[in-house]
Formats: sequence, structure tokens, C-alpha cells
Amino acid sequence: MNWTAQDTTALLDTVERFAREALVPHVNDWDAAAGFPRALYQQAAHIGLLGLGYPEHLGGTPAPWRARNAVSQLLARRTASGGLLASLFSHNIGLPPILKHGSPEVQAQVIPPVLAGEQIAALGITEPGGGSDVANLRTTARRDGADYVIDGEKTFITSGVRCDWITLAVRTDAVNKGAGGISLIAVPCDAKGIERTALHKMGWHASDTAHIRFDGVRVPARHLLGEEHKGFRMIMGNFNGERLAMSALALGFAEACHDEALAWARERKTFGQALVEHQVVRHKLMDMRMRIASTQHWLDALGDHIDAGDEGADWVANVCLLKNHSTQAMQANADAAVQILGGMGFMRGTACERIYREVKVMMIGGGAEEIMKELAARQSGL
Ligand SMILES: Cc1cc2nc3c(=O)[nH]c(=O)nc-3n(C[C@H](O)[C@H](O)[C@H](O)COP(=O)(O)OP(=O)(O)OC[C@H]3O[C@@H](n4cnc5c(N)ncnc54)[C@H](O)[C@@H]3O)c2cc1C
Repeated sequence: MNWTAQDTTALLDTVERFAREALVPHVNDWDAAAGFPRALYQQAAHIGLLGLGYPEHLGGTPAPWRARNAVSQLLARRTASGGLLASLFSHNIGLPPILKHGSPEVQAQVIPPVLAGEQIAALGITEPGGGSDVANLRTTARRDGADYVIDGEKTFITSGVRCDWITLAVRTDAVNKGAGGISLIAVPCDAKGIERTALHKMGWHASDTAHIRFDGVRVPARHLLGEEHKGFRMIMGNFNGERLAMSALALGFAEACHDEALAWARERKTFGQALVEHQVVRHKLMDMRMRIASTQHWLDALGDHIDAGDEGADWVANVCLLKNHSTQAMQANADAAVQILGGMGFMRGTACERIYREVKVMMIGGGAEEIMKELAARQSGL
């Protein structure tokens, strides 16, 4: 890949303009309306955002993780809307298993329309019975002639109501009830027997989140990704990318809180002084900066490692811990920013109010904090 620092600068300029013109003026309305227009996918595709990190022959633009993280971080900092970004980029959790393990035919069928913003992709792992214990999932896919027949339920699925494709985790081995009986399959969402229900949430209001039932859904067996019963490792591998991207987003949200709190603290006067001149407030702002700096350095280092091809056990452990660190930084900064804004921080329309409501999903989704620590410990040989 021939990627230079100038490429990153040019890309970030484009993203900055896109955020300013196409996203920021609308985020509050989209939050209030609990959704954003489907046309936004095509707008994002048009400037190459959806295709970042995907091969050219499938309609993408190969780009290193460092640049992709910088894009996520900037979008989060400018929009302060995790719900918007979660749905607009849900293909970044749905497509990678297809890219890595799907047949060339399935890749050609699914990936180009999604990167063009014409179709929407999602990932379906979590079930009503649990999301952390992936090895225990119950949705089944039974082989019947040239098809699999899928029965079960998925829940909390991002882009679940609108998606055209869902990369679905299913149990293909009726005997093996553990990790060894799981497969991944690309399911077209216009198949008969799929019923979707929108869910209402504490935050991420702009995001489409669904409960999905599969009732005798027939999918061609050629949609299986990789080998049958080998899906668990694919799912775990996919989580690494999701967690790294979530860390970049969390960092951007932590910055958005700092930006808003600093601007407010300079402007607002109490007892004859700007807030920023009160030592307690200044110290809060420095604590926020400290969390941003530590997260930034760790994120950049892990981005460099994966760009250099290092995805070993230590890297995986670090990604898990970074996800916890970055989301804790986001949480602490959201708390500090709301406090500095006072009553205004409790009002709809401020960035920190939304981020304060959105932080819990960042600490739970894509692997909850406790699971991150367990996984990091295991990867470290403990
Ligand atoms: C808005 C939103 C969007 C989402 N989008 C998607 C999506 O697109 N696709 C998808 O597949 N999933 C999605 N999820 C699901 C998310 O990944 C799960 O919520 C998450 O993995 C946790 O699973 P759970 O909610 O079932 O909690 P559980 O697994 O039931 O865990 C509940 C709590 O117990 C803790 N816990 C569990 N086991 C242990 C243990 N051994 N030791 C200590 N503590 C433990 C967990 O850390 C957690 O705090 C989304 C969730 C939300 C809220």
C-alpha cells in the first residue's frame, strides 16, 4: 500500500468538510427523530468514506489503520454522535469477515453495493440469552440440500432494521454446543422468515438498533464464510478491529467534551472571573487533557503495530485494555464537561449531554469491560 502522510492530511481535510457541511448541522435533529436519512450512506460513499480500508477491486480504498483511526476520531470529535457513526459505519463490523473469509462470488455480491452506499451491512452475534458468552449462542443453521435453514433470535443489532445484509453467527453443529460448533454466514435480509423490531435506547438515538427473529430462513449454503464450525475464531478476530475503532471513537468523544468544556469555561463568568480562572475548573480541564493524551499515544502505537502486521497475543491484550482505557477517558471527560457546563450540560443540544448518555454503550458493546479484562489476562498468560 502506498500511503503517505500527505494522503492522511488530504483525507482529514475532506472528512472535516463533510462533517461540517453534511453532519454537524443535522445531528441534533437526527437524534430527536431517532434516525438519519438513508441517502447519507451514498453521500459518505461519494467522498470515499465507506470504502476506506477495503480493496480497490471491490470499490474501496486501501488505507492504514492509523489513517482510519484518525478519521473515526475526527468524526467523533466533530459530530459528538455515536449513534450516527455506529449505524453509518456498521459495515465496518459486518463486512470484514466477508472480506477475509467469504468466497470471491459472495464478496463481489455483497461488498461493492455496501461500499457504494446503496446497501447496508450489519453484524449479528448477540442474542437475547447473552452477548458476552459467544460460544454459547443458540441460533441454529441446519443444512438442507443447497441451503442452510436458520432459526433463532439476535438482539441489539446496529443497523438491524435497515440492513440489506447481516453477517450472522449461527450454530451449525447440532452436537457441539460450544465454540467449535459455530459458523458465520452472510444472510440477505430480504429472505423470507425475517422479522425485525426497532429498540428504544438510553442513547445512540440516531442509530437503528433492532431485535431480529429468524424463522426457517433459507440461505444458499455458498453464503457460508470460510469453513463450517470455524466461525468462533473469525468472530474473535473481527472483534479486534471493532475494539480498535471504538477506542478511536471514544477518544474523539473525550476530545469533544474537552473542546466544549474549554470554550464554555473561557466564556462563562462567575464571581467576577471566567470559569477557567478558577483553579478547580482549570484542574478539571488538565485532567481531561491528560486522559486524551494517554489514549492518543496508546491508540497510535497500536495502530502502528497492526499496520506493521503485528496482531499477536500482546497486541490483542493491549486492544482490550485500550478499549477500557479510552471509554473510561470518555466517561470521565463527559462527567467533567457536564459539571463545567453546569445546568447547560444537562440540556439537549450540548455535545457533553449526548456523550454522557452514550458512554455506557461504548463500555458494554463490542465486548464489555469485564470481558475485556478477562481476555487481556488470558492473552497475557494469566
Ligand atoms: C446500542 C447497542 C448496539 C449493539 N450493536 C450490536 C451489533 O451490531 N451486533 C451485535 O452482535 N451486538 C451488538 N450489541 C450487543 C453488545 O455487543 C452486547 O450488549 C455486549 O457484548 C454484552 O452482552 P450482553 O448485553 O448480553 O450482556 P451479558 O453478556 O449478559 O453480560 C451482562 C454483564 O455481565 C458481565 N459479565 C458477563 N460475563 C461475565 C464474567 N464471566 N465475569 C464478569 N462479568 C461478566 C458483562 O461484562 C456485563 O457487564 C449492541 C449493544 C448495544 C447496547
